[in-house]
Amino acid sequence: MATRVNHWIGGRSVEPSSGSYHQDVNPTNGGAGAEIARGNSEDVNAAVESAAQAARGWHRFPSAKRGRLLGDLARAIRANAEALADLEVEDTGKPRAEALGEIEVGAAYFEFYAGLVNLPIGDNLDIEPGQHVYTRREPYGVIGIITPWNVPLNQAARACAPALAAANVVVVKPAEDSSQTSVALARLATEVGFPDGTFNVLLGLGPEAGAELVRHPSVRKVAFTGSVSVGQTIGHVAAERVIPLTLELGGKSANIVFDDADLEFAAKEAVRGFATNAGQVCSAGTRLLVQRSIHDQFVKMVVDATRTRRPGENLGPLITRAQYEQVQSYFEVARQEGLTAEIGGDLPNDEALQGGFFVNPTVYSNVDNSARLAQEEVFGPVLVTIPFDTEEDAIRLANSSDYGLVAAVWTKDISRALRVADDIEAGQIFVNTWSTGAVQTPFGGYKHSGYGREKGIEALNHYGQVKCVVVKY
Ligand code: ADP
Repeated sequence: MATRVNHWIGGRSVEPSSGSYHQDVNPTNGGAGAEIARGNSEDVNAAVESAAQAARGWHRFPSAKRGRLLGDLARAIRANAEALADLEVEDTGKPRAEALGEIEVGAAYFEFYAGLVNLPIGDNLDIEPGQHVYTRREPYGVIGIITPWNVPLNQAARACAPALAAANVVVVKPAEDSSQTSVALARLATEVGFPDGTFNVLLGLGPEAGAELVRHPSVRKVAFTGSVSVGQTIGHVAAERVIPLTLELGGKSANIVFDDADLEFAAKEAVRGFATNAGQVCSAGTRLLVQRSIHDQFVKMVVDATRTRRPGENLGPLITRAQYEQVQSYFEVARQEGLTAEIGGDLPNDEALQGGFFVNPTVYSNVDNSARLAQEEVFGPVLVTIPFDTEEDAIRLANSSDYGLVAAVWTKDISRALRVADDIEAGQIFVNTWSTGAVQTPFGGYKHSGYGREKGIEALNHYGQVKCVVVKY
């Protein structure tokens, strides 16, 4: 019998009130996966009310004890990393090493915020004699956290750790296709001693459980990671309800390589940038801007490095059938637009992979920046290369995108690197490297990639509201 996964509400496992479950699909073979509780408004109400009841006690919990619990949860994640990886691999099909790496970063979030439970610090405002004026940061209360299916435990941890550190309580709605590790995380939180109701997981479909969560009157802030269109839908509701929202949405990130760069390393990193998690990463480096003098030579190096990514070995499947179909539809668009596939653009023909949602890693070369594949987020292991001539061209092309999540620049000329970093419209810029797992680094988008920042001390600013107290004496 398939595994049935239930909500985690008020410190215990709770079955869906309707009794109905959503059937997940195993992305490696198209067979049946876990059955996920299909939450409805009654379940949402139970989860949010449980959280609301716990909110006051958690706010008054001594901060040192709160920090200790976050640290205990980090240790529990590490101690259970193998079991968590089993669940993540079952849901997503991703290579085990990738799952373990993401889980380690999940632990690191709790570890990092465990030490920051008293931040940001309030101020004393020296206005005039006879007045004592101070500010304090107070939690919002119940935070609704909605996460996507690509990096499940890690993304739940990324939002829950700062929210809980800042004395909020959480209701997490993970993606219906990969919910298991969020429930396991909440269970671990209860086991290490988080008070019942502080850490809840509500399962179900986006337009049902997710939408109800955002609408619930006791949810005081929402943190959403996912697609632009759902972010916009949630944004309308948040505007009507006048609640704050942070949005971490898509990307079409530019990776800019100048002719003086360390090309060998840049080629390897370019592949890591577009093929990690089979390209299902919002910050994937999917637009490779290469100086024209080295374009063809460098593309050849990238194609050679791409051959090291083998579907079913170190390249996982697309996680959902819908995503698998979307990536194939982009292969068709590329054919119609006459793009040149230097490698990939099709499905693996290995017998053992049939039925699974695998695609070959793909590089299209000499693509115009206005092509659909250069403008739209494919969310698969698909790279386009775009030649440029000058530094100004590179900046113009990089910024000619609706998105602005991350970017990288490769050059030995430090002045040029800093000029480009200044001028790129994106929330994180890398110089001579690609990406960082460091939990200390603020992360978030410009333009359609969203607003607000996850990670780092910066994230704490989104989980507290300022109260100013004026005392006359
Ligand atoms: P992706 O394209 O990464 O699947 P989505 O934006 O579709 O991203 O989904 C991200 C998360 O948002 C998932 O947990 C999904 O269930 C949820 N979701 C989808 N539609 C809605 C909605 N209308 N309201 C709230 N949450 C939603």
